[in-house]
Amino acid sequence: MNDSDIAQDFHRETCTTCPYCGVGCGVRVRESSASQNGNKSFTVTGDDNHPANYGALCSKGSDLAATLSADDRLTDPLVDGSIASWDHALDHIAERFQQTIEAHGPESVAFYVSGQLLTEDYYVVNKLVKGYIGSANIDTNSRLCMSSTVAGHKRAFGSDTVPGCYEDLELADLIVLSGSNLAWCHPILYQRIRAAKKRRPKLKVIVIDPRQTATCDLVDSHLCIRPDTDADLFNGLLGALADGKYLNKSYIAQHTENFAATLKQARALNLKQTSATTGLSTTKLRKFYHLFAETERVVTVFSQGINQSTRGTDTVNSIINCHLATGRIGQPGMGPFSVTGQPNAMGGREVGGLANMLAAHMDLDNPTHRDIVQTFWQSPRIASKPGRKAVDLFNDIGAGKIKALWIMATNPVDSMPQAGDVAQALSRCPFVVVSDIVSHSDTQAYAHVRLPALAWGEKDGTVTNSERRISRQRAFKTPTGNAKPDWWAVCEVAKRLGYEKAFDYPNAATIFREHSALSGFRNAGSRDFDIGHCAQMSDQDYDSLQPFQWPWRTGERHSNTRFFADGPFYTPSGKARFVPVLPPQSHPSSPSYPLLLNTGRIRDQWHTMTRTGHSARLSSHLAEPFIEIHPEDAARHDIAPADIVRVRSANNHVLVRALLSPRAQRGVAFMPMHWSDQFSSRSRINTLISGNTDPISGQPASKSEPISMSRFDATHYGFCIVHDKLQPLTEWFNQAPCEYWAKARCDHGYRIEFAGTTSAGDLFQAWQAQLSLVLERADALADDSISVIQYRDKHNHRAACFYNDTLLAAVFIDRQPVMVSRYWSASLLAEKHSEHKRHRILAAQAAADQPDKGAIVCSCFMVGSHQIAGVASRQERPTVESIGDALSAGTNCGSCRSEIGQIIKAVSIKRHTPQTSLPSIAAQTNADEIASA
Ligand code: SF4
Repeated sequence: MNDSDIAQDFHRETCTTCPYCGVGCGVRVRESSASQNGNKSFTVTGDDNHPANYGALCSKGSDLAATLSADDRLTDPLVDGSIASWDHALDHIAERFQQTIEAHGPESVAFYVSGQLLTEDYYVVNKLVKGYIGSANIDTNSRLCMSSTVAGHKRAFGSDTVPGCYEDLELADLIVLSGSNLAWCHPILYQRIRAAKKRRPKLKVIVIDPRQTATCDLVDSHLCIRPDTDADLFNGLLGALADGKYLNKSYIAQHTENFAATLKQARALNLKQTSATTGLSTTKLRKFYHLFAETERVVTVFSQGINQSTRGTDTVNSIINCHLATGRIGQPGMGPFSVTGQPNAMGGREVGGLANMLAAHMDLDNPTHRDIVQTFWQSPRIASKPGRKAVDLFNDIGAGKIKALWIMATNPVDSMPQAGDVAQALSRCPFVVVSDIVSHSDTQAYAHVRLPALAWGEKDGTVTNSERRISRQRAFKTPTGNAKPDWWAVCEVAKRLGYEKAFDYPNAATIFREHSALSGFRNAGSRDFDIGHCAQMSDQDYDSLQPFQWPWRTGERHSNTRFFADGPFYTPSGKARFVPVLPPQSHPSSPSYPLLLNTGRIRDQWHTMTRTGHSARLSSHLAEPFIEIHPEDAARHDIAPADIVRVRSANNHVLVRALLSPRAQRGVAFMPMHWSDQFSSRSRINTLISGNTDPISGQPASKSEPISMSRFDATHYGFCIVHDKLQPLTEWFNQAPCEYWAKARCDHGYRIEFAGTTSAGDLFQAWQAQLSLVLERADALADDSISVIQYRDKHNHRAACFYNDTLLAAVFIDRQPVMVSRYWSASLLAEKHSEHKRHRILAAQAAADQPDKGAIVCSCFMVGSHQIAGVASRQERPTVESIGDALSAGTNCGSCRSEIGQIIKAVSIKRHTPQTSLPSIAAQTNADEIASA
């Protein structure tokens, strides 16, 4: 075989859409055949023709190819834990659903679906439930993400319409980011704003957030607001706009109603009271109000920070009120702008995936809409009242009212509030079906039937992003095992329930045509969502469909769109409704839970890590669950950096690593929601959350849970790396005598942090015993090629095991957080180790020819904190740009620029005060980094 044989032979390119966040970036996937083993491999790059991202991708999008592996895929249907044929599994599901409906009525079965589904999957399951089973017991995890925005839009506009588009972010003169950490959660939009600001420095950006997030590094002002008080801030703004004569009186008169009552309510708090409520000084408030009032082109972007609150819908309306009052809506560079978390949250809204909606943006409580949908579907029945929203749905399962449940593409045992109760409810449910791509998730433990779904790259359909742009997700690889499309599984069950004709779709294109036709059926401009033009497209047209924004009405040419610049709205009067927003109810405070917990997302992980958790690159930035707390709060609770912290709420307690940061607000802690029992021993954050919901939208609050915290008094701390060849040693931690563990993927294996109350010596012995057991059982490893070295003193217990010159495992145990460079250690699994150099592993010291990068800060280019600090200390005036020039760090997705900036700042301080440590978030989660910096 020569070099040219080994060279990659690119021969096919597919344009598709990233499956992560609601930005909906276009990607190009190039397939190659590696001729050495004949296996296909893929490279993923941004699609420079896609209007969402014009070729750029964030760290998650850039690493999509690494998540295509067949590792941990569910490949066959399983019925009661045994492999079954699809026919058997589908027969069984249909029989159990049929029996349950006959015995207990249509309300006794339910579906819990996901913004990960494609529109075609979503459409058929919604049709089955609302038109054929005849209930509306279908809800989606989008309930947890943006249902307050849906409710707010419908109250104000009479329809769930996002008025603007991404281009507005570039055309605005002021962008207000409220409850939105765009830099980490919607990185490409953050990049677009950053580029616009560079081109046009007069563009001002304001962040309203209780945390000083990575997004704040871009902005002109950060309003560090008390949690859940954004509605009061915007109420105050409405009053200030009126007082300063900034109202657009003609727009208010022609296109809106209920302004006077709303303004009166908005004035319930004066400036001083608003200051006291929000925690913002009157000067800051005045400045913000003045800037908003004086700037014509304003976009207010909001996301989960607004939605995930018991006041979420009101807060959305308080924002919309300000835009209606100034007529700044639906025009270039103006408008309220909700950005969604999930890739197809918007598609789910379009098909009526929420329990209180009907298909094609129609309303369950509107008899005309029900008639339109039932007539179009020619269905035997149509749901006439809302079904159970997510939190109520799982409560009803726990109460035994719902007896058969089908969960698709979501992991509620980790992602729902009251997650412990959700697990209990599922354990009691007589029949649970789970469709998923992976074979291990915390939810699947409760499934009677598990169906293998197609993953990204295998499935084919459409998604809608936050700016109403519909794009194709195209298949570019063959299905893994016997995995099938979700729409196909739903239709097969529907046919077995007796609805053959209505669910006889040969392909996704046919479903999309029907969905399009319904949107245009008896519409004539009366409803916002109309893609009737697509109802006639051929399969070939569907295959080659280019991204477009809706609406696209029959016979119209398509163009980019905005709504509501000149009305009309979809209310009965055709006018937008101002909605009065009440001042806050007082929150009962409890001395037992003196802190507020704000949950959220981190840069490189997605949801419950079922995909991103398998990527070494994406797991290298923040490899452990953590609580971010202000140093003063930490001191008050006797918590030091890298301690393990027990966090309690009234519902549960969890164990996580302490991350001290002055960027946290005093009294408010932050924890990411990603870790499941698959990746950590006791860090399912949503078990802490109460399940209080917004009374209008039913969306749970997860940004202000009362908590307490205390240091977990560990008697040992440890760090371990395990090669894939010794996978069972990784699994041993599930029952190891250590209360805390967290594992993260690295190249060729896993890295595991642990701590507990067993003595360090006993834990070391237990680890050694397990290592011996695993080696004994590892048939592929010849005994005489195994060697183990170890080192022990009063405090340290260290060992490393080799197979020939490959490092199989190493462990470091101490009575305090262990001082080992994590990234450097994990990289040793990929290297060959001659005998005379092995002692360095136990000494945890990189050799001169093996520089230690430090904790990874830029995961696009795998640049570590030590590299950045090294370059910064050698430059006279280091900047984020000069670091980018030297190391490329921060030059791709840009989400790490904030951390690079922090390191530069720390280095320059360190020049004067050598004992200062680097404040990189990545560094702080690794105990050794704190010491070594
Ligand atoms: Fe994917 Fe990142 Fe684009 Fe979101 S911003 S769609 S995660 S590439």
